[in-house]
Amino acid sequence: MKALVKESGRVRWIDHQRPGVGSSTDVEVQVIRAGICRTDLYVARGLLKSADPVVLGHEFSGVITAVGEDVEELTVGDRVTASPFVGCGRCVACSVGEAPYRCLKPKMIGVDVDGAFAEYCVVPASLIYRIPDSLGFEKGAYVEPVAASLAVVEAGIDPSQRGLIYGGGRIAELTRRILSAHGIEDLAVFDPDEGGRLEECSLDFIVETRATERAMADMIDALKPGGLLVLKSRPRRDVSIEFREVVRKELRLQGAHYGSFDEAIELLASERLEVADLFGATHHMSEYAGVIDRLWRDESKKHFFSTEVTAAGGAR
Ligand SMILES: [Zn+2]
Ligand SMILES: [Zn+2]
Repeated sequence: MKALVKESGRVRWIDHQRPGVGSSTDVEVQVIRAGICRTDLYVARGLLKSADPVVLGHEFSGVITAVGEDVEELTVGDRVTASPFVGCGRCVACSVGEAPYRCLKPKMIGVDVDGAFAEYCVVPASLIYRIPDSLGFEKGAYVEPVAASLAVVEAGIDPSQRGLIYGGGRIAELTRRILSAHGIEDLAVFDPDEGGRLEECSLDFIVETRATERAMADMIDALKPGGLLVLKSRPRRDVSIEFREVVRKELRLQGAHYGSFDEAIELLASERLEVADLFGATHHMSEYAGVIDRLWRDESKKHFFSTEVTAAGGAR
């Protein structure tokens, strides 16, 4: 098969061994669509440590082509998507049955183990979620970002209080729409790039979607004493904060990693969540070099890879 592989610092679309189910609890998926995410750009550019070699990509949808002998609830032909973190199975979190993304030493597909920018990928069946026929493969490949934003719904926001989403851009907008679908309506998005400043001690809660030191200082400054700061980003580097201010104001910091994948699928299929306008183009994976360059400069839309080619040469 063909795959987008990073090896010795270079990304190439090359022939790669088709994985096949290695373990009795794995499934093999023919990838139909794969979303391109900032994490993929960081790995491609060597800004995030990854396995070497590794097949990139962690947001995808496709059709099951093989299942291991111990997989009971999935069959060949199922339309599916997946959660991207593989639990170690041995740590304290895994041993009490926490979700794999809460593992203390998780491996992320497309970073630590082979991922989905390929014609086929193999993942443990426990990461797989079936998607309904009514959900297109593009939206199917967008389940992971929606599930990630859904974590904010569970972060303890009081909708009667004053707050906003900090960050601007696609993730902030997606988070706004998801909160709105949950009755936390008309939440403003504050985009620091558009100028303006947050008023000191003016907000009960802030949902962070951009974690820079400057942003953290602004948000800590803008929260009222006892305020809630929901941390949503996964910056590739540590970000320092004004520790003393957090203590002095008795702020609450709440991480938001993932909500329910089942709910994300339901939301996307129900059309209670409009996302089509957040989507950009679908590109054939072989066009990766130009696509990565372009998205590095402008990530305002979610772009997708496909492995299928039409007679005209473009992605289906
Ligand atoms: Zn992602
Ligand atoms: Zn673990």
